[in-house]
Parts: sequence; structure tokens; C-alpha cells
Amino acid sequence: MSRAIGIDLGTTNSCVATLVEGRPIIVPNSEGGRTTPSVVTFTADGQRLVGAAARRHVNHPAHTITSIKRFMGRQWDEVTEEMAMIPYQVERGADDDVRIAIAGRQYTPPEISAMILQQLKTDAEAFLGEPVSDAVITVPAYFNNAQREATQAAGKIAGLNVLRILNEPTAASLAYGLDQAQEQTVLVFDLGGGTFDVSILDLGQGLFEVKSTHGDNHLGGDNFDQAIVNWMLAEIHRAWGLNLTADQGQVSRLRLIAEAAKVALSSKPSTQITLPFPNEGKPCLLDLSREKLNALTVDLLARMDRPVQQALADAGLASSDIGHVVLVGGMTRMPAVADHLRHLIDKEPQDGIDPDEVVAIGAALQAGILAGAIKDILLLDVTPLSLGIETRGGIFTRLIARNTSVPTHKTHTFTTAEDGQTSMEFRILQGESEMAAFNKTLGSFRLDGITPARRGLMEVDVSFDIDANGILHIHAEDITTGNGRQIRIEGGAVLSEAEVTRMTEEAEVHAGDARRLHDLAEARNLAEILADEIERSLSVQRDRIEACHEAALEDQIRRLRDALKNDEASEIRTRIQGLTEAAQVLIKGAHGATRKTKSRENVP
Ligand code: AMP
Repeated sequence: MSRAIGIDLGTTNSCVATLVEGRPIIVPNSEGGRTTPSVVTFTADGQRLVGAAARRHVNHPAHTITSIKRFMGRQWDEVTEEMAMIPYQVERGADDDVRIAIAGRQYTPPEISAMILQQLKTDAEAFLGEPVSDAVITVPAYFNNAQREATQAAGKIAGLNVLRILNEPTAASLAYGLDQAQEQTVLVFDLGGGTFDVSILDLGQGLFEVKSTHGDNHLGGDNFDQAIVNWMLAEIHRAWGLNLTADQGQVSRLRLIAEAAKVALSSKPSTQITLPFPNEGKPCLLDLSREKLNALTVDLLARMDRPVQQALADAGLASSDIGHVVLVGGMTRMPAVADHLRHLIDKEPQDGIDPDEVVAIGAALQAGILAGAIKDILLLDVTPLSLGIETRGGIFTRLIARNTSVPTHKTHTFTTAEDGQTSMEFRILQGESEMAAFNKTLGSFRLDGITPARRGLMEVDVSFDIDANGILHIHAEDITTGNGRQIRIEGGAVLSEAEVTRMTEEAEVHAGDARRLHDLAEARNLAEILADEIERSLSVQRDRIEACHEAALEDQIRRLRDALKNDEASEIRTRIQGLTEAAQVLIKGAHGATRKTKSRENVP
């Protein structure tokens, strides 16, 4: 087996690690950097630069691609917020996907990510002196199918054999060897350049289970840098009367200076900033203290509270239940960030591995496990939202519940909703509402060639499989004919971590409405099936029952059909009861007329 590497493909920075004699090491890039900016730039003379070289290229912000991870596997109508944050141009692709437009050419996000991965691969090969082909690549725990698939595709384009797509918090815990210890609960606190994630994991004896994840997709080091830039712009205006707000090139330079000041203040109490322009031949200087930085960013620090509390609440835990805290992301080096977390969870964080290297180290260990160099670790992750399909009446029928450990496999039998139905349309959904309309559609497909028969008779087995990479495979098979269709969810499954939170919250808000609609849809389904079935039985058995019973049954059927004209579930249920009682004469007279009324879910 050739050498395998672990890659933390970050929003802002990426990092590579590998095992040397069984121990993980960071693989530096060609400039000696232990992390590589996830930046690609296309220069005016047609060159393509990746990493630190691209990051220094601040003069062409429109040709410099940053934060490509935010666009991975996402669709056009879901990236409005992201678009406002980037200086380069994105366009709508033919599949409603996002394309990056540079110098008259369009690139897909996986293509751009692949340029970063290719650079990491090349640099690793140069450092290690041997070819690298296999890799474990990490993604946030909340990444959905499309985002994971896009990451896998990026790996392939870069010429890598992707051994596994691994969750970042799982990798970080693995790096600390927390799987070896007694069973415990770990909180992984990840504040990177552009995103904030909190994950709670259950670990022990090689078992990894993500209990909950929360975060803020728009909170990271960039916000801290921006707070410093805003302060600098105001100071520059005040001291030298210059308004640089609209000067993109100057603002980009100030941003780099702001970041350097922020990093410096992690290890010293104050720093002097030299501005990128002189005034009357003298350098322009600004002093910034740690206290001042903390004051400028106090609202950003406060934004960390809710995701932490929400992750605890979702896992059903109190902060005192947390056994270990693991820090991930360069921003956790800022003393005020770590202090704020200590205030939230009264526990000293794990120490010893650089927070911006810990995920790559874990990925390298996982690569070692898969390559057989390390044994006996079983990895479990969970689905962030429930998965299922839409059934008759707009009901969401769950196949896989939220927080189920993956890999997982579930099969469910569905039946036809109409008489003579020859095809079934499956709409695959993700979300927590009982009604399909409140959930997110991931995709749909049709199974044709169903033998025409009475409603509820033809059965189709639908199985959902989530593989170890978290990718969803769906298989539907007509039980009678053996005719089947297999699909993978691609492209449509677009949920950011913020959306997972939003959808979960919305499902809670709409829970009352959804329950009412669900109750109504269920009553309607039952009523329609019951009325049809009894009418059918009645037409067959008319001669065998007394005229008064026949009249009573017809009356009950009419009342039930009338009730169906209104949206009153209780009224419909009363009428169902009335008809069921009247139909006793049929059940006595024949075999199982109403047997099918409590059928499996029907698919229109
Ligand atoms: P990551 O995405 O994990 O690489 O984190 C990158 C973010 O961490 C950037 O915003 C960096 O400016 C920030 N960062 C890196 N090192 C430090 C440090 N020593 N102090 C404060 N922030 C840092």
C-alpha cells in the first residue's frame, strides 16, 4: 500500500499529516508552512497560485478564491449570504449549482478545492520523497451528502484515492487518543477562520459517536480581523483624515495587517501596527492592546454561548457531564476565546497538540487505521437530520431518525396510493417535521412498471443506506416484478450547519401545525381508503345483507365523504368510527373487507 496522508481541508487553512514509524507528523508545505491557506489565485499573466503565494496576492481580490469550502456541494439559491462575503464572482451553473467565474471560465467548487488538494499532495510528495495516493479528508460533522460527495470528488480530481471522509471533531478526539480511555463525553470546540462548530462526542474503547453538533457558520477569525479593520479605518480617518473604506486593495492589505496584530496579541499584551502608507515621509503607526482587542470583539465572543448551550441541550447533557474539552482552530489560541470557553465549561482543555493541526493529525491516524497500521478502532458518526420519504397526504415518513449512528441501513415497505397506479414517485426528504412540506427535498425518482392493481396491493421495498462516508444510497424494488432503481443523493442535499439549526428550530416552531396537518392527512388517508373499500365490499355483498343495513352503510359512507370536504380531523375520525361500526355487518358477511384499511404508507 502506498503512503496515506490525512488532510484537514479547511475553510481558511488546510493541513496535512502522515504517520512516520507509527507516529503522526505534520507534513510542511514547500514554503515550510505547517498549514497552507486554502486560497487559489489566477494571476494576470495566466499563472495559478495556491496557498501562501495566493494569499499574498491581494491586488486581485476578484481573481482570488477564498473560502471555497462554503460553496462545496451547495446550490445556487442557498448561498446568497455567502455571496455577499466574497470578492470574486460566482454564477449559476446549468444544474442550479454554483460556479466560480474567472477570466471568462467557469469552475465548479470541487475543481477549485482540487487545486488546493493537488498542491497539498505535490508538497507532501516533495517533503516525503515518495508518491502519495491515498488520503483521509475531513469535513465538518454537519456536512450533508452533497457536501461530502463534493469533497470526495475534489479528492478524485486531485488524483487522490479518498480512503474516507471523516468528521473533523472525531478526528480531533482521535488525535488526543481519547478513544483509548474509559468511556467519556468530549466537547470539541472549533473556532477557525470563518466558521464556529461545537460537537459533543461519546468516546470509549475505540467507539466514536457524535451526540450533537451546533455552531455558527458565519463566525470565525475573519470576523475578528474585520473588527480590527473597522477600528483601523476609523482611527485612520480620525488621525490622518483619510477615508479608505471604498479602496478594496487598501482594505485587503489592512486585513492582513489586522490578522497579524490579532495573532501577535495572543502572545503579548500589546502591539504596534505599521500602516501600509506613509504620511509626510513618516510611517503611520497605531497601538493596539489585548484589552482593546477584547473590547472590540466582545460581541463576537458572546456569539459563542448559544451554540455551546444548544449542543449540550441537544445531547441532553449539563456542562458538568463533559469529561474533556478539545480545542480546534487557530482562533482558540486567542486567550479571550479560551477564557470564554472556560467560563462556559468549567474544564481545562486538552493540551499538547496545536489546535490548527489536531484535525490533520487525527485524519493521519485514521488513514493509518484504514491502511492497517493501527488496529481496533471502530468509528461511528451520526446523521444530523432525519431522512425519509413523502407519503400520501404529504406526510413525512422517516426511515432513518436523526442522530442514528452511521453506517446504517433501513428498509421500509410502501404500497400504491391509487387504484391502477403504474408508477411511484419517491421524494426523498431531510428534516424533523412530520409534514413533508416543512422539510428539505434532497431529490426524487420514479419507479415505473408497477403492475396495475387495487390501491395498497402492490408493494415496493425502499432501503436507505448511509455508508461510512455519510453518503446516502437509496434502492427501491418492486416486490412483485423485482424491478428496481438505485440512486445516490447528489447535488440536491444542500444544508449548511446553520440550516440544520434553522430547520430543527423551525420544525419545533411548526410542530403544532405539522401535528395538526399530520393528524388530518392520516385521518383523510384512512377515511378515503375505508370509504372505497366498504363501497367495493358493499357492491359485492349487496344481496347478502338486509336493506336497512345497506341503507345505513350508504348513509355512513355519504357522511364520511361529506366530512372529507372539510379539514376537520375530529369530524372525519367520528365518521370513520360511524362507518366502521356500520360495516360490522360486512365483516361478518365476508372476509376481511376492511383488513387493508390500516395499510402501510402509500406512495402516490
Ligand atoms: P483555522 O481555520 O483553524 O486555520 O484558523 C485560522 C484562524 O485562526 C485565522 O483567523 C487566524 O488568524 C487565527 N489564528 C491563527 N493563529 C492564531 C493565534 N496565535 N492567535 C489568534 N488567532 C490565530
